[in-house]
Amino acid sequence: MAGFEVRGVSKVYGGATPTETLSNIDLTIEDGEFLSILGPSGCGKSTLLEILAGLQLPTSGEVWFGGAKLKGPGIERGVVFQDPSLYPWRSVAKNVQLGLEMRGVAKSEQREGAQRYLDLVGLKGFENKYPHHLSGGMKQRAGLARALANGPEVLLMDEPFGAVDYLTRLQLQDDLLRIWEAEKKTVVFVTHDVSEAVFLGDRVVLLSPRPGRINRIFQVPKERP
Ligand code: ADP
Ligand code: ADP
Repeated sequence: MAGFEVRGVSKVYGGATPTETLSNIDLTIEDGEFLSILGPSGCGKSTLLEILAGLQLPTSGEVWFGGAKLKGPGIERGVVFQDPSLYPWRSVAKNVQLGLEMRGVAKSEQREGAQRYLDLVGLKGFENKYPHHLSGGMKQRAGLARALANGPEVLLMDEPFGAVDYLTRLQLQDDLLRIWEAEKKTVVFVTHDVSEAVFLGDRVVLLSPRPGRINRIFQVPKERP
């Protein structure tokens, strides 16, 4: 079960003037849903996503994942950032199979895994190219394939299409929905773009800018075009 229970989560960043970025957040994320987290820049979206990833600890409150209290990052929760940070000296396929390689998965299985997910994201034929051969949108596709190849139950995505041009972004959104429908994974998608949040999500969580608390959670009609 790849759902989250967020209970009373607050986050205060230290420093000269400690600021409360998240304030008493309660949120249930259902197994298999596509949840968008929407809000203006600086409202705490990345902080919330990093807490779900286990990359940050809340100052108070708890996060449960699949019935256990979250203690840190885990392979069952794949993270996709705006910058896919591919290794320039590794081929596209070698980038995608990195996680499998680190876990000591057999070479043939690494190759099959990379191939399967490169096909899925639309990068068939680019296996032996290097990242500098790819456009921005294609790099993001490779980053998505790399996250999927690790077999996560959840994809945590932080403005993944924020740096690609508008038409490419629309295409990536369509493809992400197709992949989500095919792979049946829980997706949590952070964006400050209203149309992106509404188009992609089953539900949209609206984080208010000051202090960062959930303003509203609204349901997007389930019937998809
Ligand atoms: P968003 O993703 O919505 O733009 P963030 O979660 O990145 O928001 O940031 C929310 C607020 O928390 C911002 O005011 C930011 O400056 C602050 N913040 C984020 N990360 C840190 C950090 N590591 N240390 C101190 N302050 C931080
Ligand atoms: P995306 O929507 O994935 O960003 P682009 O609009 O950048 O795709 O590119 C559209 C198509 O053009 C790609 O699917 C690919 O077949 C081809 N293409 C783009 N850049 C290159 C490149 N550097 N080398 C070869 N083919 C490319």
